[in-house]
Amino acid sequence: MEIRERVRQLPISPSNLRGMAIASQSDSHFPLIHCHRLFKSYPMTGIEVHALRGIDLDINEGEMVAIMGASGSGKSTLMNIIGCMDKQTSGEYYLDDADISKQEENELAATRNRKMGFVFQRYNLLARSTALYNVELPMFYASISGAEAEQRAREALEDVGLKDFMHHWPNQMSGGQQQRVSIARAMVNRPLVLLADEPTGALDTVSTKDIMAIFQKMHQEQGTTVMVITHEPSVADYCQRKVVIRDGQIVSDDKVANQIIARKSA
Ligand code: ADP
Ligand code: MG
Repeated sequence: MEIRERVRQLPISPSNLRGMAIASQSDSHFPLIHCHRLFKSYPMTGIEVHALRGIDLDINEGEMVAIMGASGSGKSTLMNIIGCMDKQTSGEYYLDDADISKQEENELAATRNRKMGFVFQRYNLLARSTALYNVELPMFYASISGAEAEQRAREALEDVGLKDFMHHWPNQMSGGQQQRVSIARAMVNRPLVLLADEPTGALDTVSTKDIMAIFQKMHQEQGTTVMVITHEPSVADYCQRKVVIRDGQIVSDDKVANQIIARKSA
C-alpha cells in the first residue's frame, strides 16, 4: 500500500511508466526484443510456405544490429513480426516485456505508434505532401497538437540535415534525401526501436554512407535500438552485431569485428 502511494505521487511520464512496468514484473524481465522458437507459415493454395522456422533472438535496449540473408530467407517476415505488423504462427515474441501475440489490433497499433519507427527501401512518403507534412503525420496519430507537431517535425528534419528542404515534395528530392525524410518521420515519436528494411537498397554508396551515419547518430545520441535489414555486407559493417538468416533460421550471430563509423559526407 505504501509503495502504491509513492507511485501515485510520481509525476507521470513515459519513462516513469516504463520503470514501474519493469519494477512490477522484475521476475520475468526479458531483453527489449525477445523471440523464442518463432515460426511463421503462410498458408498458400496447395503448398504452405515456412518463412520462419524456429528463430531464437534476443536484442537488448541500445544495440545496433544488422539482419542479413539472401532474398526470400525470411528477413522481412521477421521484421513484420518484430514491428508488430504481423503475428507469428507459433513461438514467443515479447517486446518491452509485453506479449505481443496477445494484443488486439488497436493495442498493436498503439504499440507500433509509440515504440517503433519504420524505414523502408522505397521510402513510402506521401507523394503530394511536403517533407514537413510527411514528418508531422505520425504525431497526429499520437494526438500531438499542431504547433508542437510542427516544431518537432522541424527539429527531426534538421537532425537529418534537411533544414532547407522542409517544403519540398518527394519528387523534388534525391533518393537519399527522401530516405532522410523517412528517417525523420520514423524518429519523430522517439521510438524505442528503429526498424529499417533494406534502407539503402535503392541508394548509391555516398547516400548509403550518409544514411548509416544518421542511424549511428540516432543510436549514439538518443540511445535508440536499431535493426537494419540488408543483404549488403558493407551495410552490416556499420552495425555492432550481425545476425544471418538462411531459410527461416539463424545460421550465425556475431559481434562485428571492425565496425565502420560513418561520417556524413559534405
Ligand atoms: P526476405 O525479406 O528475406 O526476402 P521474406 O520474409 O519476404 O524474405 O519471405 C520469406 C518467404 O516467405 C519467401 O519464400 C516468401 O515468398 C514468403 N512470403 C513472404 N510474405 C508472404 C506472404 N504475405 N504470403 C505468402 N508468402 C510470403
Ligand atoms: Mg525483404
